[in-house]
Amino acid sequence: MIARRTIIRGGLVLDAAGGAAAKDILIQDGLILAIDAPGFGVSDDAEVLSAADRMLIPGLVNAHTHSHGALNRGAVDDKVSLEMFLTGAGSSTRSRGIDDKYLSAALSAAEMIRKGCTACFDLTVEFPGPTREGISAVARAYRDSGMRAVVAPMIADRTIYQALPGLLEALPDEVRAQVADMRAAPIDQTFSVCDEILSNWEFDRRFVRPALGPTIPLYCSDEFLVRCAELATQHGIPLQTHLAESRAQGAIGQARYGRSLVEHLDAIGFLSERLSAAHAIWLGDDDTARLGQAGVKVAHNPSSNLRLGSGVAPVRQMLKAGVTVGIGTDASNTSDGQNMFEATRLASYLSRIEGPATAQWISAQQAFGLATEGSAKVLGFERIGRLAPGYEADIVFLRLDSPHFVPLRAPLLQMVFGENGASVDTVMIGGRVVFRDGKLLTLDEAVLRRQAQEAADRLDRADGTPRGSTTVVSQLVGAFCAAQGCLGHKLPRKLNLACEG
Ligand SMILES: [Zn+2]
Repeated sequence: MIARRTIIRGGLVLDAAGGAAAKDILIQDGLILAIDAPGFGVSDDAEVLSAADRMLIPGLVNAHTHSHGALNRGAVDDKVSLEMFLTGAGSSTRSRGIDDKYLSAALSAAEMIRKGCTACFDLTVEFPGPTREGISAVARAYRDSGMRAVVAPMIADRTIYQALPGLLEALPDEVRAQVADMRAAPIDQTFSVCDEILSNWEFDRRFVRPALGPTIPLYCSDEFLVRCAELATQHGIPLQTHLAESRAQGAIGQARYGRSLVEHLDAIGFLSERLSAAHAIWLGDDDTARLGQAGVKVAHNPSSNLRLGSGVAPVRQMLKAGVTVGIGTDASNTSDGQNMFEATRLASYLSRIEGPATAQWISAQQAFGLATEGSAKVLGFERIGRLAPGYEADIVFLRLDSPHFVPLRAPLLQMVFGENGASVDTVMIGGRVVFRDGKLLTLDEAVLRRQAQEAADRLDRADGTPRGSTTVVSQLVGAFCAAQGCLGHKLPRKLNLACEG
């Protein structure tokens, strides 16, 4: 039962400018009503919650993840690039039932809450195409966890073998025979299901909202992308896609369209303020300007980009071009965890390899702004990402006796650069405490753990997935991309004794 009024007393409250001061927070009907000096008077009916020795921060907002990845933790081999990973992505969800879809989203939500994240944008996949029951199961898991989420069915009308020109021809005959007939769900069927999902949304949009996730532009025909954009406009919902995530995508886009991916998407009318682009790594200067002009937002995923060797996104240039940037973790199989603290720290650290001018680096405060208010804009939630009157009471309590806060000098800097989620003590979402004293109050994590192991054993057997090793076809796809000069990237390593400024 949520008390109508709650007063949080004794905490150190982080403000939007990065300062921290002892303040009390009054909450009414899930919203922050007032933040004022310690001990300020409230009516007797308010429930008092102690935040002594805790720092209070706005819940982190994950701008890009995939809840289906949680049940696939540990299934992505060590040295695997994006294209190698995508080769097996369909088969890894093939045998799941509705309960498995719910379970994966519940596991994903439990991890995010534990690590101080209170809202996310989830592109969730079903094989061979989305179903109303499947998306409803994912949304239900978020509702049951108490988290906010934007849930988008991840859809396409091409497989990787149709998306990468020359790939099928490059495969040995016996492998080609296995994969040549793979098809995505028919377009009309996909859109009819999506329309049904969007027209019959049964969840409280204050917490769980629908969206559409055309997976990767190269995996979608132009007709498919345009229909996605039209359906999103019709229902007034956001769209998210993976844009120029790998060098292969950037290069193959150029070869296929005779112009950059971004130029092409602009030409077919796909770019808009509804759209957010996850990753956005392999962009030219014109592309960042184009994204800025069109109002496209970007979800930056530094941990996944490093894990898959995809590259380093030009975040500084995007910000200069007026692009709204949020921070995401990507799924907990390709990032090995949905840790928004880690992703936020990496966003700041990684900006330092882009150039030597320290003034251009992304500061701890900026990175924190991206991970809260920036990501909130990607999700399209207007009143999250900040502790201020009128905002949702999505509040994370951090223990100040954690080593990286001792001694305490610069709370925000010490949090962004030192926190790993272990200090998260209490999490409140919309005024409701969902995590307290290291325990999730909304879902039974012991049960989830047992169900997850049972499901993993059963699904691996059903899918014939070799655990912890890449398949032959995945290695062949990796070799194909490498042969085209399309894998990874390297940093210039030339010693310049003149030391540029
Ligand atoms: Zn992704």
